[in-house]
Amino acid sequence: MKMYKINVSNISRLRTYTDGDGVSTLIGSMGCPLRCAYCFNPFSWDGSLEPKTYAVDELYEEVKRDNIYFLSTGGGLVFGGGEPLLYHEFIKEFIKKYKSTGWKFTLETSLSVKKDILRDIIDYIDFFIVDTKDMNKNRYELYTKGDYELFLSNLKFLIDKVGSDGIRVRVPKIPKLNTVDDVKTNYRTLKDMGFSNIDVFNYVEIAKHRKISRVALENKKDFDERLYENKIKFVEDYILSEIMLKVPPILDFHIKKFPNSFNKKFEFLFEYDSIFNDDLFFLKEVVISKLQECYDYLDLKYGFFVIFYPVGYLENRLDDSCFDLSIMNNLVKSFEGLDEIDKEKHALELWEENKWEYIEFKYFCHDLNHLKNFYVNFKDHGYKLDSKYILSNAYDVCPSDFVVHINLRKTGKTYNIVEEDYSTHLLVQKFDKDMNLISQSIFEKGI
Ligand code: SF4
Repeated sequence: MKMYKINVSNISRLRTYTDGDGVSTLIGSMGCPLRCAYCFNPFSWDGSLEPKTYAVDELYEEVKRDNIYFLSTGGGLVFGGGEPLLYHEFIKEFIKKYKSTGWKFTLETSLSVKKDILRDIIDYIDFFIVDTKDMNKNRYELYTKGDYELFLSNLKFLIDKVGSDGIRVRVPKIPKLNTVDDVKTNYRTLKDMGFSNIDVFNYVEIAKHRKISRVALENKKDFDERLYENKIKFVEDYILSEIMLKVPPILDFHIKKFPNSFNKKFEFLFEYDSIFNDDLFFLKEVVISKLQECYDYLDLKYGFFVIFYPVGYLENRLDDSCFDLSIMNNLVKSFEGLDEIDKEKHALELWEENKWEYIEFKYFCHDLNHLKNFYVNFKDHGYKLDSKYILSNAYDVCPSDFVVHINLRKTGKTYNIVEEDYSTHLLVQKFDKDMNLISQSIFEKGI
């Protein structure tokens, strides 16, 4: 006769109304096919715990002391995990043998097993508790590293066979992974599938509530990294669908570069046809509003720059060699000691000499060091300074404080445009070495 055994990580007694009706004892089994980023029982799979093994009768001997509580409250045993369905044969044998106790048998499962296993045990279980994680395939697989189709098909099978009264589904709000709106959508999806016992609750990020093993920590780090990639992919897809398809009729416009991580200075670099310059204001509005939508949806703080880069511009430059920091140092020095009138005169001369572009971006470069750093970093990224045409910055600010700078240089004529009214005029601003605004002029278009 086959001897069935279960590897147990912990047995938790006298649980009241957390696993369905009555007092229950939770049997935490070892092993799980999933790798949830914030797993509450990582010791069930991370190798940090030596399990205790029980045969059917041994487990009964261990748990029977709470018989009176089970019977008087309608409670019983809860097989949880890890994933208890890895021990479906043991559980089936246990229930067959001890059904006569009158205890209630609950299964807390992720349903990430072959359907045959579920089919094999389904008639023995009184009540199922299923943590759904997330009802969106991408998010589910990102969070669990499991197979969403397998889970979904088992969930459908379960409600079909058991009915909604025999199942409680849990719908978590998972930090960083889903939003409140996503959770509402998950809830509606489950309602539409026929579930009525739906428990919405919050996950706590693992490692914030207790120490975890190196293996579990690596698993969480891996999730964080893939989450970033996923969000970037989302932003990219969103921009492609929301911006690119709408803008091309106006411009030859495409994304040149996407950032590979979210940080404070998240840069989006767009290219557009350099012969186009009539509707840049509109373009900037479209791009930035769509990026804001994206960030709001993902629950991210604004943290991006948008750079518009005119294709072909550099080809028209006689000298597009890399930026030399000494040029800017000399440039800034040349303002020292000048009074306001001479400063403006000197600025105009420099402007005509085509050097003015080095001291622009007032809101971006609050001081000289910041400006230097910016150019050094800029160079390190392999861009040509001259390619920075339109720059918007919007990090850690509320949308109403949004500041956008446009710095446009037309081939043949040199001038800086800080903001452009797309219908009638150009607004030009000039700054001193401390990046203070020293003059501002409005020109008719066509100067
Ligand atoms: S299903 Fe997820 S949370 Fe549950 S034990 Fe497995 S990895 Fe941990």
